[in-house]
Amino acid sequence: MTEHELHPETKAIRAGRGDNDTALAPILWATTTFVTPTVAEGRKMATGIGSARFYSRYGNPTVAGFEDAIAQLEGAETARAFASGMGAISAVILGLCSTGDHIVAQRQLYAGTQLLLQTACPRFGIDVTFVDATEPGAFAAAVIPGRTTLVFAETPANPRLDLVDLDELGAIAGPMTVVDSTFATPLIQRPLDHGVDLVIHSATKAIAGHNDATLGVVAGAAELVDWLYSFAVLQGANASPFDALNGLRGLRTLGVRLERQSATAGVLARFLESHPATAEVRWPGLESHPQYELAQRQMRLPGGLLTFDLVGGIEAGVAFVEGLEIAQLATSLGGPETLVTHPASTTHVNLTPEELAANGISPGTVRVSTGLEHADDLVADFAQALERPAG
Ligand SMILES: *Cc1c(COP(=O)(O)O)cnc(C)c1O
Repeated sequence: MTEHELHPETKAIRAGRGDNDTALAPILWATTTFVTPTVAEGRKMATGIGSARFYSRYGNPTVAGFEDAIAQLEGAETARAFASGMGAISAVILGLCSTGDHIVAQRQLYAGTQLLLQTACPRFGIDVTFVDATEPGAFAAAVIPGRTTLVFAETPANPRLDLVDLDELGAIAGPMTVVDSTFATPLIQRPLDHGVDLVIHSATKAIAGHNDATLGVVAGAAELVDWLYSFAVLQGANASPFDALNGLRGLRTLGVRLERQSATAGVLARFLESHPATAEVRWPGLESHPQYELAQRQMRLPGGLLTFDLVGGIEAGVAFVEGLEIAQLATSLGGPETLVTHPASTTHVNLTPEELAANGISPGTVRVSTGLEHADDLVADFAQALERPAG
């Protein structure tokens, strides 16, 4: 059996072990610098791409192990890790686009990405057009031939789990296509297999998976990632070796965590769908999801994220998230603890009411990141919190 034929869950156990010597667990290379044997070798490392033994802002063996693992899992030629998901996203956008360029992005985006596109890009003379990613052909229709350099997508998207058709995105000719695949992880979907050029993860989330590492990564063709590398070294948002170590640690259990979280999210989604206090429930594994067919086609598992609307609006949303006893009110996702967020009052608080509506966020929208607790305990917790009087 060749490495290529292995299941992703098996690859996640085997990947990124290059610099371990005989140690089973990854070695933490907690060093900022490396002794260079000769001036000539130092010069080569200072000017080359991806040196892992020169100075840790350029590269580091523990970080390189994590990068290799992600490249392998995504089927990419290479990968570059960053200090955070936003470090990766800002490197892609500001490292690959210049004054006069045009970006097509979707309206349904992680709020940090949206703010970067709306506030930083105009300052550098980069125009951005936002489209509805769920509308077939919307990305391609907004591309301006000769001017659009980047098409930026996120799927499943924050916070309503809208999906982007990866085949359609990958077929766009001309601009570079990029997918923020954080919610899916490489074990649920592989955008590069669909013809997309770069895939980004906030590994802070499910990949590191324990809410103890802030980490990002970009993977794709060497030509593009190497181009990004020169900018990244100057940007300085390099991944810390300790966080990369935790990224590798998280990858080993990612498969079982995603299976458990997907199963529990399904139990919660069906419970919420049948509850009179809720309006719409969004989870890619529910037949009622408007893009259920697409989810079946491009996702190996529905994932642990779900979003629902409370009919009681903002008061009901606040009462619910504050009334939970097992699930906790905290931003972030993909870890062992079930977390809830109330986007209208937290992550998306900087958006105008019109932008909130365009993002599909109502005052009563609640996002759930299912953890690893027993499903029955979570259902009981949600049931009691839904009974709490609002206000
Ligand atoms: C969290 C997140 C980011 C940003 O990642 P950080 O590690 O917090 O910088 C980007 N995209 C998505 C979809 C996210 O969930």
